[in-house]
Amino acid sequence: MPTDHERMLSEIFSVSEEIYKDMSDDVSDTDHTKVFEYITRLGKTLSESDRTSFWKWDKRNHTLWTAAAVGADKIIIPDNTGLVGKALAEKRVIITNDPYSDPDFNSAVDKKTGYVTKSILVMPVADVNGEFIGAYQAINKLGSDGKFGDEDVRRLSLAAVICGIALESETFLDESHHDKLTQLKNRMGFYSDFSKRYLKLVETGKKLSLFICDIDKFKRINDTYGHNAGDEVLKHTAALLGTCCGENDGIYRWGGEEFVMIMTDADKQTCIDKAEEIRVKIMESVCHAEGNDIKLTLSFGVSEFDSNRTIEENISSADEKLYTAKESGRNRVVF
Ligand code: GH3
Ligand code: MG
Ligand code: MG
Repeated sequence: MPTDHERMLSEIFSVSEEIYKDMSDDVSDTDHTKVFEYITRLGKTLSESDRTSFWKWDKRNHTLWTAAAVGADKIIIPDNTGLVGKALAEKRVIITNDPYSDPDFNSAVDKKTGYVTKSILVMPVADVNGEFIGAYQAINKLGSDGKFGDEDVRRLSLAAVICGIALESETFLDESHHDKLTQLKNRMGFYSDFSKRYLKLVETGKKLSLFICDIDKFKRINDTYGHNAGDEVLKHTAALLGTCCGENDGIYRWGGEEFVMIMTDADKQTCIDKAEEIRVKIMESVCHAEGNDIKLTLSFGVSEFDSNRTIEENISSADEKLYTAKESGRNRVVF
C-alpha cells in the first residue's frame, strides 16, 4: 500500500508530466488555458483541498476572473471584492477557517450553488519582477481538522511559482500580439492566428477571403488636426471595423493606417460586400477629436485566399488591388 506521501508525489509527477507533454507539443501556443488547468490541479493535490482556482487579475478592466477552476464554473468579479481581491490589494496570503464570519468573504456563489465553504487559502501570485498578477485559491481543506495552515502555504507556493511564470509568459505574448493604440491584434497576431486557426480551415477546404484597407490621405489628417487627432481617427476606424467583424472573422492593424480583415467561410463576393458596407459606414461617420469633427474615407483591396500561394503572396495580391483603388481615386473597393 502506498503511503499518503507516495500517493501525493505520484499525483504531482503525473501532473508535471502532462504539463511537460503539453509544452513540448508543436501546437502549443499563446493559449495557456490547459497549463493553468494542470497547475490548478497540482495546487489541489498539494494543498489537499476540495476545490482550487487560479484567478487572473485583469488590471485594465479592474476584474478578477478564474482562468482555471477545478470543481467550479468560471467566475468574474470586480477586483476590489472578496478574499482574492483583499489578498492582492494587501499582497499577502490569507487563510480563513471560518469564512462565514469573515466580512471579506463573498458568500454569493455559495448561496447560488448550495456549496458550503468551510476553509479558504488565498495566495497572491507574482511574476518574476515581483508584480502581482493573479491569485491561487484553495477551498475546503480535506481530511485532518479541515483547516488550512502554514504547511499548505508552503506546498501551494510550488504551484504559485509555476503559475506566475506561465501567466507572465502568456501576458507577454498577448501584449506582443496586440496594438496598444487601437486594441486590435497586430501583424504578429495575424501570423499567429493564421498558423493556428486559418491555415487549418484552408487545409480542410474552407473558403477564406480577405481585404486590406487604408485610410485615404491620412497624412493630411495628421497635418491638419495634429497627431493626437490622427490617433483618435485610427481608434475610430478600428472600432468601426471591429463592430462589422463577424464572430469567425478577424480584424488586424497591419501597420500605420492599414487594416486587414480576414473572413472565414466567405467567398470573394461576401468579402466585397463587407468591404463596401464598411466603406459607406466610414464615409458617413464623423470622428470627434480634439474639438474637431473629422471626416474620412477608406480604400480597399479584396482577394479570395488562394491555397496554392503563401499567405504573404495572398496579402500582396490584396495589396495590389488596394494600390489600384488609390490610383483610381480612393474611397473605393477594388477586387
Ligand atoms: P494615401 O491616401 O495614399 O494612403 O495617403 P496617406 O497620406 O494616407 O498615406 P501616407 O503613407 O503618405 O501617410 C500615412 C501617414 O500615417 C504617415 C504616418 O505619419 C501616419 N501614421 C502612421 N502611424 C500612425 C499613428 O499611429 N498615429 C498617427 N497619428 N499617425 C500615424
Ligand atoms: Mg493612407
Ligand atoms: Mg498606408
